[in-house]
Amino acid sequence: MAFSPLNNLLISVEKQGPGKIKKDTFPLRYGKYSEIKTSEYEFRFNLNGEIKFIRGLNVNWPHPAEQLKRTDGNDWVYYTVGDISGEHGIISWLGEYYLPCLPYPSNSIWEINYYSTPGIMNAFAAWPQLYGNLYGSRRDRLHTKAKELIDLIIENHDGVLYERSQRLNEIIGGRVSVLPPDTRHIDYEIIPLMISNGCLYHCNFCCVKSALKFQARSRTDILEQIGKLKDFYGRNLENYNGLFLGNHDALEAGEELISDSASEAYKAFGFGRPGGMTPLLFLFGSVHSLFKSEHRLFERLNQLPFYTYINIGLESNDTPTLAHIGKPLDESNVCEAFKKMLDINATYKNIEVTVNFVIGKGLSAEHYASLKQLLQIGSDNSRGKGAVYLSPLKDSPKKRELLSLVNEIKEQSKIPVYIYLIQRL
Ligand code: SF4
Repeated sequence: MAFSPLNNLLISVEKQGPGKIKKDTFPLRYGKYSEIKTSEYEFRFNLNGEIKFIRGLNVNWPHPAEQLKRTDGNDWVYYTVGDISGEHGIISWLGEYYLPCLPYPSNSIWEINYYSTPGIMNAFAAWPQLYGNLYGSRRDRLHTKAKELIDLIIENHDGVLYERSQRLNEIIGGRVSVLPPDTRHIDYEIIPLMISNGCLYHCNFCCVKSALKFQARSRTDILEQIGKLKDFYGRNLENYNGLFLGNHDALEAGEELISDSASEAYKAFGFGRPGGMTPLLFLFGSVHSLFKSEHRLFERLNQLPFYTYINIGLESNDTPTLAHIGKPLDESNVCEAFKKMLDINATYKNIEVTVNFVIGKGLSAEHYASLKQLLQIGSDNSRGKGAVYLSPLKDSPKKRELLSLVNEIKEQSKIPVYIYLIQRL
């Protein structure tokens, strides 16, 4: 529903984008949203009236497909299409047509500081200006729907948005420090539900770990989270198709807790809406939780109304490298876990296991040689599933030189290889 201009604003109270997030070269559009356009910017809001995307329409905007996105954690992330278009560009490195440029230190191998680009900074200034215009506008002659939308947007000023991100952390018991790489398939738009804390290994190299030992959360705690999350997301719940069961090793929580939590969340959050996409379930696992997980667990996950991604940190197939980065595994564990990934992907239609390895500063030639050798193992029956994510160590020089190394690894691999960009929620 679109309304005629108010002080040169074109207001669309509700627009329907594709229900499924498509990989596309033109700006991401999905779900239901509201939109306000000025002559220079396009502002999009979620169904709760919270600002979500800003895109420039003027000549100073770097590229028509690029945009700023505000996450549920209240970070503004700039989505760039990069400087090489087509199949050799960002898509070949990330599996997506855009690179999220984060406003906090991460492990990206592209140095893109959008805060120093005037065209983008002007968009940040345009948002409070729009807010001020809406706040001061005379709305009495507007259609009720447009008036309601403006009232909702005004309620969600920057202070409220910040408070809401804090509230989300409070509900789940802390900020999600890293999202599984596979969440890229739905633009990192997941609902987090913590079924456990901590992890098994506490590796030295890891920059996202918590100090806690692994411990599963109680069922009461999980049900409480689900109830509070349902209230928190409110009407915008219908725009979500992904559930992240956290935290760093939810697979260790075991069959009952994983599948019961996923099923409860499925019901409460209304996933599986008619005409919508198959909801996606994401969790991290470790090598030992993968070994511990038996056929029964995978059979049960396979029966859930989700397509499930399990991401396992393997890091290296070279024992001295594993010791160097402080991961308590050896190459026989890693090789066995890699084979188990291939086996699960071949056996269970609705489960896809992916794995991570590190690249970057201080790693030996043996690390890369053994990785290339491992990736030559394939499965004839993996249904096109599985991916290897290469995660640059955080203190590696953020240089494109790493890309030629990634290319070399890709060429040796029987399954797709992408770069893992560490993103928080
Ligand atoms: S890499 Fe995984 S297992 Fe190791 S410390 Fe980090 S979160 Fe824990």
